[in-house]
Amino acid sequence: MSKPEADVVVVGSGVAGLAAAIEAARAGARVAVFEKQPSPGGTSNFFEGIFAVGSALQKERYIAYSRDQAFRNFMEYNHWRSDARLVRTLINRSAETIDWLRALGVEFPDVTINMPDAPRTYHVVKGRGQAVVRALARQAEDLGVAVRMNAPVERVLAGEKGPAGVVVALDGRPTEVACRAVVIASGGYANHAEWIWKYAGLELGRTVTPMGNTGKTGDGIRMAWEMGAAEEGMGVLHLIRVAPFGPEFPFMNTVEGAAIQPVLWVDPMGERFCDEGIAYYDTSLGNVNSRYPQGYTFCLFDDAIKEHFIEKGIFRGMGTVVPPGSRLLDLEEQLERFLALGSPEFFAADSVEALALKMEVDPRVLRATVDRYNGFCARGYDEEFAKDPEYLLPLGGPRFYAARARTCFLGTMGGVKINHRIEAVDPFGRPVPGLYVAGLDAGGLHAESYSMRDTSGIASAFALISGRVAGENAAEYAKGQGASLPAFHSAL
Ligand SMILES: Cc1cc2nc3c(=O)[nH]c(=O)nc-3n(C[C@H](O)[C@H](O)[C@H](O)COP(=O)(O)OP(=O)(O)OC[C@H]3O[C@@H](n4cnc5c(N)ncnc54)[C@H](O)[C@@H]3O)c2cc1C
Repeated sequence: MSKPEADVVVVGSGVAGLAAAIEAARAGARVAVFEKQPSPGGTSNFFEGIFAVGSALQKERYIAYSRDQAFRNFMEYNHWRSDARLVRTLINRSAETIDWLRALGVEFPDVTINMPDAPRTYHVVKGRGQAVVRALARQAEDLGVAVRMNAPVERVLAGEKGPAGVVVALDGRPTEVACRAVVIASGGYANHAEWIWKYAGLELGRTVTPMGNTGKTGDGIRMAWEMGAAEEGMGVLHLIRVAPFGPEFPFMNTVEGAAIQPVLWVDPMGERFCDEGIAYYDTSLGNVNSRYPQGYTFCLFDDAIKEHFIEKGIFRGMGTVVPPGSRLLDLEEQLERFLALGSPEFFAADSVEALALKMEVDPRVLRATVDRYNGFCARGYDEEFAKDPEYLLPLGGPRFYAARARTCFLGTMGGVKINHRIEAVDPFGRPVPGLYVAGLDAGGLHAESYSMRDTSGIASAFALISGRVAGENAAEYAKGQGASLPAFHSAL
């Protein structure tokens, strides 16, 4: 059998990798995608909405947010520490990418948002990211892209100028695949405990827990660095706060719906620590929670607040499935079911002091916090953090509930310095020829936090758009290096 070859090798089959493969194949390149896991899509299977500005769907709904506003807001949010040309590319190609997906059969039932006062940029995907992964995988197959599962890429082989190939484990055996260009899209390092500690100062599984990431050991980032690419954006995590958290609690359950509301929140010492009105903003929530090396804070409510959520509905929605204003009709029943689990993540007591003991908090401190907070509720003004008076619901019992709110994250957001052509670059911005880095492996977008406030859904949009641009440019580069390599399909 001849040695396997491709024009463009793509590392990873998330939406960044698959989008790259499609664009490279459409440009005439012979493409191989290697995926470490047994099934495609990685973290991309989980997203719910994709950012875009100026899309046909937004125009139909009279959503007037412009590219320029989105660009300015993004750059200001990041204090101009992001790569402006990269951000501009992302924003400019966002609407067209929604059309591109619709042409592949992806459906968008709504354009919405989860936050008050935020522009409606979140294009809700029917069937979540999994539907996008399926559509892209189908298109890649139709274009003749070779997609191999259980095929972790181990390293990129350096040629005289750019990559000469990759070493990939095929059927468990390290195999050299020759190529002219490589697109790295391996989805970051969310499961790499050493790097999470080194770059983010958090202990994996103790002070912070990844969700929706498997086997993310930063392989692509390491390989790009080995090829001379510079580091950028290490330590930026897509942080969130989840209460209660654990395998015993189903995804987006009713009790979580109650616990994540802007009620009374206290730190591990039993004191308030923020304006709970930030409940709508995942990045702010994740950031404030991650200040605690214990890895958690608490959300407290009582029977009267419970009744509020049953009768009048919730303030903050849960994803797009449970919108704001929804009444938690089965809350009573779910509370009892969860309490019966006896979990240390969610519990109740008949007095503030008894609750404090279960929380391992000084009962005098918690009593004082609740009394002070109830005073703010009575006066209609939060002297500590100026929380919106609408959320000032006092706690009087008879039963008090506490959910531990854990610091979690949905992915790492950076690693390799790139330019707006999605080329990997060295510390001086000079491209590493033939090497492209897309999606969660790439830095230069988020300065220190996930920028979601005015650009909700930007993580998936960036993965798709950086992937597309990488694929286009990788194909162009490969063509410039010589003709297509016909031996590829027979050998892979
Ligand atoms: C629960 C959840 C909800 C989310 N919701 C949203 C949302 O609503 N909107 C939004 O914008 N974002 C959301 N995100 C974030 C978004 O899903 C990701 O940022 C995006 O999908 C990342 O795409 P990617 O292609 O870069 O990485 P991935 O999708 O993770 O793909 C990387 C792939 O590379 C593979 N790989 C790793 N190492 C190797 C190797 N050595 N060789 C071969 N393959 C390798 C991995 O197995 C993986 O399949 C969410 C994330 C989670 C977890």
